[in-house]
Amino acid sequence: MNERDSEQVARMFSEGGYTITKDEFDADAILVNTCSVRDQAEQKALGKMGHMGKHRIRKPHVVYGFMGCMAQSRGEELFQNVPHLDVVVGTQKYHKVFEYVDNILTQRLERRMDEVQLSMIGENVCDTEEETDSQNTIKDHIEENINPSTFVSIMQGCNMKCSYCIVPDTRGRERGRPITSIIEEIKKLTDKGVVEVTLLGQIVNLYGRTEFPKIDGKSPFVQLLEAVHDIDAIKRIRFTSPHPIGYRDDLINAFTYLPKLCSHIHFPMQSGSDRILKKMRRPYKNQKFIEICEKMKAARKDLAITTDVIVGYPGETEEDYLMTKETMKNIGFDNAFIFRYSKRKNTPAAEMHDQIADSIKEERNQDLLAMVNQIAMEKNQLQVGTTQEVLCTGGSKKDPNKMTSRTSQNKIVIFDGKAERMSGQILPIKIEKSSGFTLFGTPVIH
Ligand code: SF4
Repeated sequence: MNERDSEQVARMFSEGGYTITKDEFDADAILVNTCSVRDQAEQKALGKMGHMGKHRIRKPHVVYGFMGCMAQSRGEELFQNVPHLDVVVGTQKYHKVFEYVDNILTQRLERRMDEVQLSMIGENVCDTEEETDSQNTIKDHIEENINPSTFVSIMQGCNMKCSYCIVPDTRGRERGRPITSIIEEIKKLTDKGVVEVTLLGQIVNLYGRTEFPKIDGKSPFVQLLEAVHDIDAIKRIRFTSPHPIGYRDDLINAFTYLPKLCSHIHFPMQSGSDRILKKMRRPYKNQKFIEICEKMKAARKDLAITTDVIVGYPGETEEDYLMTKETMKNIGFDNAFIFRYSKRKNTPAAEMHDQIADSIKEERNQDLLAMVNQIAMEKNQLQVGTTQEVLCTGGSKKDPNKMTSRTSQNKIVIFDGKAERMSGQILPIKIEKSSGFTLFGTPVIH
């Protein structure tokens, strides 16, 4: 989601006549889009911004800005932490970043360089206000960056109140874009060679529930999936991330009659213990989560499921942890992101008195990781000898004579090929080898 937001901002700069550079040394404006999901991410962003302040010595006009979740939650306070910072823009104001930065930069460049130090006083901009319809501003892409597989942001915000999460504070309440606007964006993308889209939302399956009606028992999200499916040039559809709440039969059924829906869902479980789910304020039971996975596997036989899990949540006993482990083993996830619980400022979980020792979190993390890796490798090994339809997404970073591609189950497949010729194509590949998490194969010639 942050990448999509960054792309939108970059696109506004390129429309405004700027050139995007990846080399901070060349830049006149340096923007860091921040994440607040984990404390480590915030510390990294602060460290990076601190370090990049050195460019001002050589180029006094450089404009520095923080955008995104940390900007939203910390606001003005960031100017104290980072003295060279000029702009702080929250999650509902991405469309204003260009204007703020461009104004400051233009003023600085118009003044004589020896006056710049003085001119910086009082130029800071902090904008973290809410803005109606801000979800409709994330809809443009940078042409040079468009990949055959591209992300499309369909909504912003979240109405849940998970006790460990800062997102509802930083991203506001759920707001969906109209289906017509999303379809228009996707059609424009197909003109640039996009064949696969991943629909993005904090709880993607709850898309539009407060704004748009159900039709024939179908949720707005399923209506959207059908509308995307109708676009001829789109060959594959993915979405991330769904929540057990609102994961109803209409969505499960969609996997039986919408063949372009890929055979993969990333479905965050968080814990296998009902007691911990309740403490997390996740309003479902473990059994409900399992049932959805079972129904999904029945609807789509070759479905791969990946998940997110938190270990060491406050109050998590060995018994709770073992319930999580047991559920993960039984469901047999194709992969999982395992997070050691870390406190987030201004969240109820951070105030809980029964915090778990780091050593226990680490032990559970390693234990679970070993099991998840083992299952993932076994599942990948089962692919050897099969032929998979893969979408070629580009050249391999390590070897220009190799292609990177993804199966419908979202598994990475590498094979000999040239990006210029094959990018965007869906090809049958015979899987010949698995190196744990990556598959290797050869194109099947008919
Ligand atoms: S569902 Fe929970 S974890 Fe996900 S964004 Fe909303 S509050 Fe955060």
